[in-house]
Amino acid sequence: MLRAVFIGLSENKSLRHFAESSAMGRRMSSRFAAGLEVKDAVAAAKKLNAMGATVSIDNLGENVTNAAEARESAKLYHDMLDELSKDGLKANISLKLTHMGLDVDPALCHDLVSELVDHAVKIDNFVRIDMEGSPYTQKTLDFVHELHRIPGHSGHVGAVIQSYMRRAEADVEKLLSERIRIRLCKGAYKEPADIAFQQKSEVDANYVKLAKTLIKSGVYHGIATHDENIINELKQFAKAESIPASAFEFQMLYGVRRGLQEQLIKEGWGLRVYVPFGTEWYPYFMRRLAERPANALFIAKNMFRN
Ligand code: FAD
Repeated sequence: MLRAVFIGLSENKSLRHFAESSAMGRRMSSRFAAGLEVKDAVAAAKKLNAMGATVSIDNLGENVTNAAEARESAKLYHDMLDELSKDGLKANISLKLTHMGLDVDPALCHDLVSELVDHAVKIDNFVRIDMEGSPYTQKTLDFVHELHRIPGHSGHVGAVIQSYMRRAEADVEKLLSERIRIRLCKGAYKEPADIAFQQKSEVDANYVKLAKTLIKSGVYHGIATHDENIINELKQFAKAESIPASAFEFQMLYGVRRGLQEQLIKEGWGLRVYVPFGTEWYPYFMRRLAERPANALFIAKNMFRN
């Protein structure tokens, strides 16, 4: 119920405008975002690298409405790739196709993302294409398959699968048939019952089933969850199957379950932290509240603490 409320609020344009332009809103966003500028994300990546985590940096934003905005977003990612390379950071980038103009001009979006993957290839880096709501699922996967088939791109671009989607298993099989790297998550949007599991138990069971397939696949995948029970089950599974920690990585969001992040690193598991930054933080922030409404209370308390 509260999840649906927060997801509904994440799409409210007036609230978004108000929140993103107010000082108080920006203060709230710092709970889940590294800051507003490239340098803030780079500083966060440095700290996380020093802690033993690798990083994926997301320039916050989605659903741009014109080509100039899409080009601007792509430019920022090029700058980011240069910064990461210059500082020798263990960090790649994550992006959303609607931030690169998918709704405005799919051909432009294809060119912009393909150029980013070319850039990543040159500096031996990697581009993750985030997964958005279900109107974009097929388009996004088609995009990733196409990008992956461009000579030289293989291993430098990857997809995201959401375990709440009923189609997830078939999509995983297709991606694995081309050895495309996958980030597995549960899914952050509100989807109808005909295409997505609604019960947490079903989403979790599908997650574990798919994660085991990925861990055993011989391709390097990202297991993105903060669910301690699932993480424990997968650690046991990897040990029982003699799969080394270096065969895959766990992934978590910046600012979420920091203690668990540190514990995984201490135990020798690979951990990548997803670090969002930028001025367009509102929809991302509201989806984080939807995942754990108690966060709203926590943030409210901290806002008024001296
Ligand atoms: P849940 O069952 O939601 O939570 C398990 C436990 O984790 C909770 O009990 C709580 O202790 C903790 N927890 C979870 N979320 C929070 C939070 N926000 N704050 C505090 N504690 C929390 N979704 C997409 O749809 N597309 C993507 O491309 C995408 N990329 C992602 C990348 C990464 C690296 C991660 C970690 C998540 C990504 N997500 C993405 C979000 C994901 O789909 C889930 O919405 C989110 O991770 C919460 O699910 P969970 O697996 O942690 O399990």
